[in-house]
Amino acid sequence: MDKILLMLQLQNQLNVATNGEEWVRGVTKNGKEINWKRCIYMESAEMIDSFPWKHWKAIDAEPDWDNLKIEVVDVWHFIMSLAIEFYAQEMLGGIEDIAIHTAELNAFSLIDNNHARFDEPKIIMTKVEDIMRDVLSLGKLDLDALLTHFFELVSMSGLNLHSLYTLYIGKNILNQFRQDNGYKEGTYIKTWDGEEDNVWMQKILDENPDIKPEELYKELAKLYHQVNRA
Ligand code: MG
Ligand code: MG
Repeated sequence: MDKILLMLQLQNQLNVATNGEEWVRGVTKNGKEINWKRCIYMESAEMIDSFPWKHWKAIDAEPDWDNLKIEVVDVWHFIMSLAIEFYAQEMLGGIEDIAIHTAELNAFSLIDNNHARFDEPKIIMTKVEDIMRDVLSLGKLDLDALLTHFFELVSMSGLNLHSLYTLYIGKNILNQFRQDNGYKEGTYIKTWDGEEDNVWMQKILDENPDIKPEELYKELAKLYHQVNRA
């Protein structure tokens, strides 16, 4: 449950930083409509594209399993955002309530263990389409069904709660670190001592798999300043 709560908190922070305090109303600070359901089904299509699903093209290609994992983490950003928005709009509660409720779902136990395996592409793609259907349905959102399908997908995609968490915070914190160090302005240095920042981040995560987000940020800052000292 702790890891789910931490990820929800980080996602909320990222959404506040990107879209403003009022993002749960479904509009950004610039007045642009936010549509998390659309984000989810478009990103789900990217998961399908990790497989050679086209019957007319590259029919013997191998699935891109690493990309599948990345897309699963991408979709997770949007599912958490949709859950926070839904809880706020339906007045069901805050982030802590979502974390408690999520950990009580039966499907949560599928990812809260050490097993990490890949299922058959066909089975995975069918599960992705369940997720697409959840967000394309015209009726009211069934958040439990969406979370259940997502956790089932995680458990089929070579991931578990631990690796989902690690990949998620890695991506979230690195994005934050880049933004805080001149990414938008073009002054950020992406290659540190011959290796890209995400390689350094991966090294930190491999050495400290249970690292807290703030600690990861501090480690990145330390390395960045050491390596890039003028
Ligand atoms: Mg994308
Ligand atoms: Mg993607």
